[in-house]
Amino acid sequence: MPSSLYIDGAWRESSTGRTHEVRSPHDGSLVTTVSEASVEDVLEAIGAARRSFDSGVFASWSWKERSDLVSRIADLLERDAAQVAKKESDDTGKRLIEAEYDVADVVATFRHFAALGLKEHDHFVDVGLAHVTSRIVHEPIGVCSLIGPWNYPLLQIAWKVAPALVAGCSFILKPSELTPESAIHLIKLIEEARAPRGVANLILGPGSVVGNALTTDPRVDLVSFTGGLTTGKTIMIGAAPTVKKLALELGGKNPHIIFADADLDAAIDNAVTGAFLHSGQVCSAGTRLLVERSVHDRVVNEIVRRAGEIRLGGPADLNAETGPLISQSHLKTVENYVAKGIEEGAKLLVGGKRSNREDLKQGWYFQPTVFDGCKSDMFCVQEESFGPVMTVEVFDTEKEAIAIGNDTIFGLSGGVWSQDLEKAARVAAGLRHGTVWVNDFGPYRPQAEWGGYKQSGIGRELGSHGLSEYLEIKHIWTNNSPSKSGWFHDSSGGDEK
Ligand code: NAD
Repeated sequence: MPSSLYIDGAWRESSTGRTHEVRSPHDGSLVTTVSEASVEDVLEAIGAARRSFDSGVFASWSWKERSDLVSRIADLLERDAAQVAKKESDDTGKRLIEAEYDVADVVATFRHFAALGLKEHDHFVDVGLAHVTSRIVHEPIGVCSLIGPWNYPLLQIAWKVAPALVAGCSFILKPSELTPESAIHLIKLIEEARAPRGVANLILGPGSVVGNALTTDPRVDLVSFTGGLTTGKTIMIGAAPTVKKLALELGGKNPHIIFADADLDAAIDNAVTGAFLHSGQVCSAGTRLLVERSVHDRVVNEIVRRAGEIRLGGPADLNAETGPLISQSHLKTVENYVAKGIEEGAKLLVGGKRSNREDLKQGWYFQPTVFDGCKSDMFCVQEESFGPVMTVEVFDTEKEAIAIGNDTIFGLSGGVWSQDLEKAARVAAGLRHGTVWVNDFGPYRPQAEWGGYKQSGIGRELGSHGLSEYLEIKHIWTNNSPSKSGWFHDSSGGDEK
């Protein structure tokens, strides 16, 4: 029986003895079996986090001590990088090399927050009174439920765990039930790095079982969630009665705009990468291509040719360029999405179905797909497929490109290609999206904020705001020359007014 829940400083089985099999998206083979928590386990984990936070032990560590802890975790992650990448690749089906890049990004995230912890956080403000000292201090927000998705399992939770630790919070971490292994390893490293007991807790299981307790319990102060829009809305509703702080990183339907005056070779190449990297299972995937009419044919013909050449394959295939979808049910979702696109009149130029390669039949492989002739009001343009499906729309003017790029409920990211940097800057300013790339698509760094406008989320991860999410701000007013307020009449004759 696996003991893969970590509660109050101890590894445990589920109280119900329930387990969950993790299966490879590449071929359905058994990767591992982990514990599946019950609601009772979740309540215990929340209790442990609450006790540890209320004890004041971790919050009383200096910023430097907590930064050192986070640096030690980064060192341990570097030590175990190969092992962690292998686990990530096994769970997600992504190529080992991509998982190795992801782990390097995880290390960079821990290092970024460790460095941020060393900066000065508190400050004095001048309230214009000589006898008053007014100080703004930052304190940990408290107990946090940290809930992650399956596409970049360790990276997405690193964006939460690292700042939570630097801030001095206690947390209950819940990775996606589809990809738990790297989170288990991370918690082992946090234990090895000597975080105080009860600060880090790990719960495994589906959101439908453990999610409600994690997001509604009054002992939880903050829910930081990365995942789908529907789940995000459920969490907001559940968090409302106890007015929890929320940090939400949700979906995206990200416009990638190519003007006729762009470096077209670079733009086309980045459009292919932006849409089909990790088989489109990227929140910021550039799956909504907007092309200036005069270069439509050249751009689209080239993208279609390139998409048709992308080599699918499993973690161990050194020639593979991208991997499978995460699960059979996700494959079904993408199939239905494509069927709907065809039904509503989008022109299928390439792909559109499951891979027919004999050696990939056991896995959830979907061919890179391009729909041309799309219109803004189509389902396939407005909804996120989270699969390798690009839709193409044309535009004639700069104004129109911006308007189409903003015609979405989402606002996570966008890209613009033009050699006219003034025009590109105007478009970047016009787009209502949290990240805009000019003559590039996809890169991010932990030093810069990440997050969404509109229904792509609330708050920011990374940058310095990514730490602020885990901090309360307290204003301490000290009167250095106390006197009576004298506001109300005092019958003893002590009136001052
Ligand atoms: P999901 O919403 O299905 O699940 C995310 C996590 O929430 C999982 O751990 C799941 O178990 C849990 N969960 C499910 N129901 C819950 C509930 N009722 N209460 C609490 N937790 C619950 O999303 P997913 O399929 O894992 O991930 C894909 C989605 O994540 C896409 O929409 C993608 O755009 C988004 N995403 C966004 C970002 C970003 O930075 N904005 C990054 C990665 C992924």
